[in-house]
Formats: sequence, C-alpha cells, structure tokens
Amino acid sequence: MAKHSAAGFMTRALHAEGHAKPMNAHTQPIFQTSTFYFDSAEHGADLFAGRQAGHIYTRIGNPTVEAYESVVADLEGGGAAVAFSSGLAAIYAALMSLLSSGDHVLSGDTLYGPSVNLIGQVMRRFGVESTFIDTSDPEAIKRGLRADTRVLFLETPANPTCRVTEIRKAAQLAHEAGARVVVDATFATPYFLRPLELGADISLHSTTKFINGHGDVVGGVATASPELAKTIRKFRTDTGACPAPMDAFLSLRGIRTLGLRMERHNRNALAVAQYLQQHEKVSRVYYHGLPDDPGHTAAKREMSGFGATFSFELTGGYAAAKRMLKGIEMMTLAVSLGTLDTLIQHPASMTHASVPEEIMRQQGLTPEMVRIHVGLEEADDIIADLEQALAKA
Ligand SMILES: *Cc1c(COP(=O)(O)O)cnc(C)c1O
Repeated sequence: MAKHSAAGFMTRALHAEGHAKPMNAHTQPIFQTSTFYFDSAEHGADLFAGRQAGHIYTRIGNPTVEAYESVVADLEGGGAAVAFSSGLAAIYAALMSLLSSGDHVLSGDTLYGPSVNLIGQVMRRFGVESTFIDTSDPEAIKRGLRADTRVLFLETPANPTCRVTEIRKAAQLAHEAGARVVVDATFATPYFLRPLELGADISLHSTTKFINGHGDVVGGVATASPELAKTIRKFRTDTGACPAPMDAFLSLRGIRTLGLRMERHNRNALAVAQYLQQHEKVSRVYYHGLPDDPGHTAAKREMSGFGATFSFELTGGYAAAKRMLKGIEMMTLAVSLGTLDTLIQHPASMTHASVPEEIMRQQGLTPEMVRIHVGLEEADDIIADLEQALAKA
C-alpha cells in the first residue's frame, strides 16, 4: 500500500504513491508509446520471465496506466487495481476471471442496461447461467444462491432507481455459500463507498463517470486483492481491453479532485431532489439521499454520502416527460453521468432501451421516469432550469 495511506482521502488523492513523478515532472507524464526497448537480449528475456520488473508492451503494462491504477487502489482502501478501456470491459474481465462454463451468477435485477445484456445474453451463450433478483433484500439473496453460484454481482446504488444493497450483509451470505462478490459502485465512487472494506471481492467503476469526472474519457477499473487482481490483469492482457496512456493520464488528473467534486455534487443533488419532491408535476423522486427513501437507512450504514444521479417520475406520464426534456435550456440532454455539468435523459427510450420490457418493469423502471445527473453549477440555476422545463410539461 502507498506510503500516504494513513492520510485522509483528499490528501491521498493528491499524494498517493502512484503520483510519483519521473524526471522531476510535477505531473505524471503520458508515456505515449506502444512498446519499450530492452537494454540487452538478457534484459528482454528477464522481463518476459518475470525475473526483473519493467515494461514490455503497453497492452501488458504502461507507466502512466500503472500510476493511475496505484492511486485508485489507494483510494479504494487497498488491494490492487486494473484499469480498462471502458467500464463494461472491467465488468466483463472481473466476471470472466471468476467464472467458467457451467457456473451460475446471481445478479442484481436493477443494473446499468448493458450489464444486463452482458450477463443475461452474452455470457449465457458461453454456458454461464444467471438469475436476476433484488439484491437489496437479503432473503432474496438467500433464496437465489445455488450450489453452483460462483458470483454474486450487484450494483449499489443501482441505476436508475437508486436501490441500495448493503454490501456487508450480501457478502456474508454469498461467502457462506462459496460465492464471490462483485460490486459495481460507479454511482457512489470510492469517496462515498469502498466495497472491499465491506467484504466485497471486487470493486468496479466505470471511470467514464465521476472518477475521471470531466466527460472526456471512456474507461473502467477493477480493484481486488493483489492475487485476484493478477488474474484480472492476465485476462486483460489476453483479451486486449487496455486503457490508452492518454486516457489514464486524464483520469489521474480527474481523480485528484474527486472528493471535492463529490461533496458539491452531493449537496446540489440533495437540493434538487428536495425541490422536485415538492413539485406538483412530480409524482415520485427516487433518491436515497432523501430521508423517506426506502434505501436511505441502508445507504447511511455503509456510505458517507449519496451521490448525484437519480430518477423522478412525472404525474403526466410519458408525454409529459418528453415535453419536459424538450423544454430544457441550460442542462444538457445526454446519457452518461459524473460529468462536471448537469445531464438529463429518459431511460425508457435511451439508456435502458436495449433492456427487454419485462426486465425493465422488474427493475421498477417506468415510461414516465426521467434521470438526472446533478452537476457542479449553482444549485439555484439547475432548479431554475427544471422549474421552467416543468412548467412546459
Ligand atoms: C456507465 C456505466 C457502466 C459502463 O461503463 P462504460 O464506461 O460506459 O463502459 C457500468 N455501470 C454503471 C453503473 C455505469 O453507470
């Protein structure tokens, strides 16, 4: 673990060991190179045999990528991190590192849309069975675990309904049944939630979102024990989803302000959620930061903040949701989240359009649901834009 690991989160985000700066550069340089030369034939042979540490080829390892991975692992509270070219590549590698044909995955039923397709469709073609359940209910986990269950996969807070699963309880149940626990904590970030400290085996993030935070990179990361991370890294080398050095550099730039950004995202999100909750045209707000939300108590037990992406429903249904989005002026009509600015979108026709309707309903998704990622603007300005857009709904 990094030498600064005793320090607080925001300090480590700036000073963790991965920030070591070669040749006195104040910022980690971008090692924009595909390959690395050997000093001699022996040196090359030693690197390949693992007798010496060093770099061979960027798909296998790159100094900028490794610097970034080291900072992520520090902020996740330990273990080793492996970075990927996308969040989905990280999820795929994490699952494939633990599963073989004939194994069973017990999965949360409220997930990022493409994760549902990956587990329910792609992996099934290769003989991995799966069942989808509500992981926020420990009884459902108990009932769902089978003798051949190797992985419990869950997302918390889950997209887009902010359903919260208590990781400690879920991990205990899964481990008793001999299954490993993989958590997609993209919505929370390590600033608010550290799954490994709560008993999860792998913590996953789409770093496209809050970790990079600037909306200019698609990336992912998986953090696990050094031993398990080694298996995941080998899978990345064998299948190729390595991040570009430039993207690792940008994400390393982004992570330095993660704590600061999350504090403000969180504060703004609460103000926006409270505003929406009292609005006559809004029938329901799904945000675990609100005291009366079903996930609030569970979230408070394991998270130090709530995040900034949530959904709400309009009394006027699908047509009203469409009219409202048409009326947006300042906010950006776009999918994704974790950017500096506020993004707003319509899951039923956008992010979750690929999810079969039956699964969508199971996830609690409705046609009148709108998802918002609350950005870093002045909260009053976000609310003013919502106010004028809702007036047109
Ligand atoms: C965006 C997202 C992903 C997928 O990440 P990509 O970087 O787009 O591949 C996975 N899980 C969650 C919760 C996400 O929000």
